[in-house]
Amino acid sequence: MTGTASDGAPVPVLMYHAVDRDPAPAALGLSVTPEAFAAQMAVVAERGFTPLTTAGLAAAWRDGTPLPARPLLVTFDDGYEGVHRHALPVLAKHSFASTVFVSTGWLRGKHDGGGALDTMLDWAQVRELADAGTEIGGHSHSHPQLDQLDAGRLRFETLHCREIVGEELGTAPVSFAYPYGYSSRRVRRAVREAGFAQALAVGNALARRRQGPYALERVTVRRSTGTEEFVRLIEGRAIARNFAADRAMTKGYALARRARGALRGHWI
Ligand SMILES: [Zn+2]
Repeated sequence: MTGTASDGAPVPVLMYHAVDRDPAPAALGLSVTPEAFAAQMAVVAERGFTPLTTAGLAAAWRDGTPLPARPLLVTFDDGYEGVHRHALPVLAKHSFASTVFVSTGWLRGKHDGGGALDTMLDWAQVRELADAGTEIGGHSHSHPQLDQLDAGRLRFETLHCREIVGEELGTAPVSFAYPYGYSSRRVRRAVREAGFAQALAVGNALARRRQGPYALERVTVRRSTGTEEFVRLIEGRAIARNFAADRAMTKGYALARRARGALRGHWI
């Protein structure tokens, strides 16, 4: 049972943020309860999906090597403490791979620059996640809208993030997630030049090989995502239904943008 996704089948890439019973108000909408997360991972297991790391999926798509049956990615942005406390035991129980994208200036400890929305991981917890097989990716240093930054600041946000994760873990991160999902050709180039080999956006679409390594789409899991909607998300059905009108409207623009974006669709 291998090979389907490398032939072009779309892959659900789930985007989570906080996993917490009582998150800070600013983190509430994009959070899930520990119970909802456990139920969602049970659905992933029951339906025969095989969670991979971001680097694992990208490497298979880059090299054309076979993927397991029904590949899926579980990703967490920002680096909330609940990912260690609540999500890690569930992931370990299922032996699921995952990726945590950390904003290095938000994590607790010596690089903390303030501005985090809720209680974040400390570096000992990040190392425990990494030791358990979770890929640690970059999510900028201070979580700005990267497409709004000048060249120097853009370089700092991508490079400094990569350096800190490398210094703390002993291995430089290879995957990146754009804060707020915002990117542009310039941002994608900066992320590549900082040393990241692939990056995830937010598009409420399944990821496809043809999107290219710096524009892989994710689907958002929210506090309001019920089990039925979650099933539709991972099966790619809610997306087709809920976003069809949006897509028709923006199709012309998206196609033009894709044609202009040299990094988009180019696997290196
Ligand atoms: Zn974020």
